[in-house]
Amino acid sequence: MKTFDIESIIRVNVRKLAPYSTARDEAGESFEIYLDANENPYNNLYNRYPDPSQKMLKKQISALKGVPVEQIFVGNGSDEPIDLLYRVFCSPGRDNVVAIAPTYGMYKVAAGVNDIEYREVLLNSDFSLNVEEILNAVDSYTRLLFICSPNNPTGNRFVTNDILSILEAFNGIVVVDEAYIDFSEGDSLATYLPEYGNLIVLKTLSKAFGLAGLRVGLAFSNEQIIGYLNKVKYPYNVNVESQRLAVDFLKKGVVAQVKEIKRERERVILSMKRCISVLKVWPSEANFILAKFEDPVGVYNELLKQGIVVRNRSSVPLCEGCLRITIGTPAENDRVLEFLESYNNC
Ligand SMILES: *Cc1c(COP(=O)(O)O)cnc(C)c1O
Repeated sequence: MKTFDIESIIRVNVRKLAPYSTARDEAGESFEIYLDANENPYNNLYNRYPDPSQKMLKKQISALKGVPVEQIFVGNGSDEPIDLLYRVFCSPGRDNVVAIAPTYGMYKVAAGVNDIEYREVLLNSDFSLNVEEILNAVDSYTRLLFICSPNNPTGNRFVTNDILSILEAFNGIVVVDEAYIDFSEGDSLATYLPEYGNLIVLKTLSKAFGLAGLRVGLAFSNEQIIGYLNKVKYPYNVNVESQRLAVDFLKKGVVAQVKEIKRERERVILSMKRCISVLKVWPSEANFILAKFEDPVGVYNELLKQGIVVRNRSSVPLCEGCLRITIGTPAENDRVLEFLESYNNC
């Protein structure tokens, strides 16, 4: 059990901030006639503002994930909570954050937007966490520490004990981004929320749930941190349609699709290992694979000519020569494999 003085690292202006109060927040729920928000009265499905506290959606998420509603933040993609965390915890031009490298690019972009120093600590060559170096990078102005697990673009999940020892040693917020957790066999770090007052777990409906176009991202943490995220968000950050459809899709579930994607992932890995143009394929706990090529740019450009776009990560540290390839439908994966098998006459 780690108690943590959240207030002491909240940005002063945010601590004092009085959030925008929507008309409906003040009046309560369910009235017959709504003349409070200057909406158009004629129902076209979208004439009303969305629920600023996303109650239906949070109820559904809470039931599914076993996390209380007060510990759930819903954002416009998980990119929103990533940016909000900077605004809540980091003072521009003074504070810093630490993140692993290579990892998801948005942590760094959000640091730049918010004028926060971004410190990168390389993973070990086997893509494991270098706990010692991560903790060495921390100083008294480090507010956030980003760990993406399973990690993008390396595809591996980190050892839980390594993350726990960082949570234990670091006197700031540890953000564990679990965008790909549903493709892995591992348990969510969310089970540790009651034990660590400095833990935030990010999830998204963009990957396993297949709803990237709806822009729904989630943050799980304690009530106090979630309260601050809610305080600084735009009141109507998730639109009516996204809230409604997300509830529908969450009810339906995606277990079969995820299973199929995982099965395809293993098939693609096995097939790629047989191609001589492929130098290495890493195991993956996500819906993409990272593979090293003798001629990554050649492969990338040839794939483009075939109408197939993958992610070129060949200039990223520790990913030299690598392409990141998302697992598609079986037919799409076949197209990639057929090409790779013919490339270099494998
Ligand atoms: C794709 C991805 C996300 C998802 O971002 P959204 O804004 O929710 O679509 C978050 N984190 C990582 C590491 C990702 O790869």
